[in-house]
Amino acid sequence: MPVQCSRCAEQRAVLKRPKTSQSLCKDCFFWVFEEEVHHTIVSAGLFKAGETVAIGASGGKDSTVLAHVMKVLNERYQYGLHLILLSVDEGITGYRDDSLETVKRNQQQYDLPLKIVSYEELYGWTMDAIVKQVGMKNNCTFCGVFRRQALDRGAKLLNVDKICTGHNADDLAETVLMNVLRGDIARLRRCTAISTSSGGEGVLPRCKPLKYAYEKEIVLYAYFKKLDYFSTECIYSPNAYRGHARAFLKDLESVRPSAIMAVLHSGENLSVKESVKMPVQGTCSRCGYISSQNLCKACVLLEGLNRGLPRLGIGKHHRLHGKLLSQQPLTEAEERKLKAVDF
Ligand code: SF4
Ligand code: ZN
Repeated sequence: MPVQCSRCAEQRAVLKRPKTSQSLCKDCFFWVFEEEVHHTIVSAGLFKAGETVAIGASGGKDSTVLAHVMKVLNERYQYGLHLILLSVDEGITGYRDDSLETVKRNQQQYDLPLKIVSYEELYGWTMDAIVKQVGMKNNCTFCGVFRRQALDRGAKLLNVDKICTGHNADDLAETVLMNVLRGDIARLRRCTAISTSSGGEGVLPRCKPLKYAYEKEIVLYAYFKKLDYFSTECIYSPNAYRGHARAFLKDLESVRPSAIMAVLHSGENLSVKESVKMPVQGTCSRCGYISSQNLCKACVLLEGLNRGLPRLGIGKHHRLHGKLLSQQPLTEAEERKLKAVDF
């Protein structure tokens, strides 16, 4: 017998909400999903009327749903925001070039302005070229550091007030687990924060309106709304450790769906001991980006790439950074250490 929607009791239920097990019709699901995001935005005070907000858009399901829902809510509740899509082109042939085509279609569908910034124009390197030099083991370190800055730089060009990204509850719970597994307690609170205030000169505030949305619901929302998104994995994705954390979380979810929210809340509430030292923030002496060292991570990684010493930014080589940057010659052994690709 067909199940009635438990909310409107008029239409047939088409799904069981992964988050609450409620049986809902399509329209009621759209409504509760959007209202929850609205509640997240309002209760955390994420935006102010008149602000220009860049939506980090990759063409994937999360950022496509984010762009769609932000547009709907901005109109429904008159947030008064100027929304812009901001994409980063890492230069990954067969992956990012295709997903950017999706973003370009989203731009038309949602009638929002779009800006694309590329690693090639910002750093002189594409990820294709970086992988050729560094191999497939630490490539995501380069990519992650570069992406963070690229989004900021793109947002600066657009003169926006804030950046919002499509991170969902599963992503954050995964990051909490990863930080626990690494013993990195100092990061727990920060990685679950819904927004980062402007961390100083050169860094824009970021926020995550989908923080409490389950990935499964994002997929259902995109599916029933027939949103146009790109679902292929990056061809350079070797992140095995995160993959384990992910699989573990999915196992827990299948037994008890609230596990995702529970892990997320644990991360929010685990306090950092007084004795955990947080780095002092300054600015990079080369590019001016926020950094706790003399040079920011992106500049160190870039220096390593440009000198053919890719290990420079990976691991602890602070003594060698100083030597290189003050133009002192390296010994043969030091050079060998930084050149090795099989790290
Ligand atoms: Fe970049 Fe790694 Fe993500 Fe690919 S998987 S886009 S290389 S961070
Ligand atoms: Zn720098």
